[in-house]
Amino acid sequence: MSVARCEICGGMTTPVPLRGGGTLAGCSICGHLVRDLVTAPADHRDHAYGGEPTLDRWRLALTYRLLRSDPPPRSVFEIGYGTGSMLRRFLDAGATVAGADPDQLELAVDPEVRRRGDLHPAGVEQVDTGRVSAELVYGIHVLEHVTDPLRTLQVAADLLEPGGTAQFLTPAGDSDGLRLYGQAWWMLEDPTHVRFFTAESLRRAATSVGLVDVRVTRPALDSLTTDVGSLTRMLRPRPRPHGVLGERPVLLAGMTSAPIVLAARAARPALRPTLHLTARKPA
Ligand SMILES: [Zn+2]
Repeated sequence: MSVARCEICGGMTTPVPLRGGGTLAGCSICGHLVRDLVTAPADHRDHAYGGEPTLDRWRLALTYRLLRSDPPPRSVFEIGYGTGSMLRRFLDAGATVAGADPDQLELAVDPEVRRRGDLHPAGVEQVDTGRVSAELVYGIHVLEHVTDPLRTLQVAADLLEPGGTAQFLTPAGDSDGLRLYGQAWWMLEDPTHVRFFTAESLRRAATSVGLVDVRVTRPALDSLTTDVGSLTRMLRPRPRPHGVLGERPVLLAGMTSAPIVLAARAARPALRPTLHLTARKPA
């Protein structure tokens, strides 16, 4: 039997059983988790999560608060810009904006971002890093989807100006949610989530591409509907081609439960389902 190696650190991987069935492959050194759809099927959702307007507005505002700096960056590059709504925030704050997106969801891009941004409708690996650079390069829930996360981080580092900052948000494979909800964990509903970083694997990944001052934190405010989505999947499993948040009552429960979720996350940070990587390119 062949032994798979961790895609981040090269350590040996072993099957990690999920509550309710299925397994992920977990690294014995950094805890990094890799998912394939045979041993951990998405159960219910057929497509990548396309978003929901109200939730997206919340998330945009909250994530912008996480990413912005003082003074604000003069130039930003977004890996996976989607509709360009985050780039629009930076544009309105006075930054020059650029980004890459293979547009798998075929989204309509903000007209102002389309007009004034340097947009590359392709994977970030195709961007000529000799011609584009930015003070801030970021990716919001991107690393869990890409084919080669180390390559993506390397391109991010290459795109940075010396002294510039990289920031990434990605689901936390070392959060309580995966243990509590097992295969019903909402982050597993998306079949294009093919890996889950741990704080340790994310730190190692950033360091391995030459980034410094690497910090990994757990933002309290990201993915606030994860618990309600996971609980619903756990208690009422059934086919949901549009995802559990596509059901209005679940979505409303997700929003109204936010204060409880926040209180729980304040008391127990391991409940927070997201990792936030911040790192710098040496000056
Ligand atoms: Zn590893």
